Amino acid sequence: MAAIGFIGLGNMGGPMAANLVKAGHKVVAFDLVEGLRNQAKSDGATVAESATAAVEGAEVVITMLPAGKHVLAVWSDVVPAMTKGALIIDCSTIDVQSAKQAHALAAKHGIGSVDAPVSGGTGGAKAATLTFMCGGDEISFAAAKPVLEKMGKKIVHCGGAGAGQAAKICNNMILAVSMIAVGEAFTLAEKLGLSHQALFDVASTSSGQCWALTSYCPVPGPVPASPANNDYKPGFASALMVKDLTLAQDAAHASGAATPLGRHAQEIYRAFDAAGHGGVDFSGIINHIRSLAGK
Ligand code: NAD
Repeated sequence: MAAIGFIGLGNMGGPMAANLVKAGHKVVAFDLVEGLRNQAKSDGATVAESATAAVEGAEVVITMLPAGKHVLAVWSDVVPAMTKGALIIDCSTIDVQSAKQAHALAAKHGIGSVDAPVSGGTGGAKAATLTFMCGGDEISFAAAKPVLEKMGKKIVHCGGAGAGQAAKICNNMILAVSMIAVGEAFTLAEKLGLSHQALFDVASTSSGQCWALTSYCPVPGPVPASPANNDYKPGFASALMVKDLTLAQDAAHASGAATPLGRHAQEIYRAFDAAGHGGVDFSGIINHIRSLAGK
């Protein structure tokens, strides 16, 4: 079992590191927050006092951090301290450009690298059912896969450096646009006197069918496990959706792609976030849509 250094023990990284311990890996963990280091210790990891100490002698290093600047700062510190031939995997959601820079940094030091952002949220992190979207060369991906399988159920090799991040932001742009569309459809149905269940029964088996409707329905009732039944507690917070839509817009500008609905979805989620709802599950956007009536 590979010795693993794990840096970033937040909502996602904490349970992911715990699953690696459960699978039998020796995990040395670090976070800036003392309480999170203590939690990792009680989950069975060894706690390091710095990021560089966490990677000493590790065969695989994993980072799970907020944004590109954090990843580049941590990788600049730890990559030179890693054993030659070891592997570093970043599971954070970051911009494609920073991901490519991080890969180049690793290559310069003879370290294999994979960008492997995830889908599945905190529930998936706890249950080890995440989907990993991976970018990197074949050899690095092959080395990363058995480790990622301890934290997820689907591991997809999307292409070279940065391809995992590209897949993540494209997927989440689809998700945001489709959630808004589903929210608009239920809002219109309410005005037309059509029940939630009737719309669900028709659309979930018709051409309007999509994940935002069938697995994550934004009204209480039809899908009992969706956050709509739990006062829109996340789940996947709207602030994180704003982050991913902004990464998608930045990538669209940089690459010259036209994404008019992606841009509009970013504006809608930004307004929801600015109104103080950043901590609400992203399916709560239906309440924002209702509030626009007559405006
Ligand atoms: P979080 O803020 O809970 O955790 C990030 C952790 O990184 C924090 O504990 C912070 O202290 C730590 N950190 C920051 N700088 C550090 C440094 N220099 N050294 C060590 N630790 C450092 O965030 P999260 O919800 O766990 O998300 C992590 C990443 O996963 C983000 O990029 C996010 O976009 C992505 N993501 C989150 C979700 C979700 O549902 N929460 C879902 C998919 C993807």
